[in-house]
Amino acid sequence: MLFKIFPELKQFPAQERRALFDNARRAAIRERPLAFALLVVTAILVCGVAAFVFHFRFSIAALFCFPVFAVWLVTSRRTMRKCFWHNLATRGQPICTHCGHNLTGNTSGTCPECGTPVVPLK
Ligand SMILES: [Zn+2]
Repeated sequence: MLFKIFPELKQFPAQERRALFDNARRAAIRERPLAFALLVVTAILVCGVAAFVFHFRFSIAALFCFPVFAVWLVTSRRTMRKCFWHNLATRGQPICTHCGHNLTGNTSGTCPECGTPVVPLK
């Protein structure tokens, strides 16, 4: 499922994926700290209401946090993917760091998808 949301993760060695994902997650929080703080408060409130409704069975109440964090994952997907694209580019892969377009065989020096100039990061 994670590969469906972040298909470029497949291109990294399995043992590095966890660290790369954590880095991208942190980058997304750094980019929108206020939104993340608001999300945490919302999750706590949702949990609190769910705990009250389900007579303080916290294991059930905690389940209501997942949709709240799923929203965060979906809304920060672009930022996280940009981190992966940048990382792939620094490893010498021909990939646009702006849109993730595969630049194999590109000779024009600009991304045909978004027009970003191709700068080798190696
Ligand atoms: Zn591009």
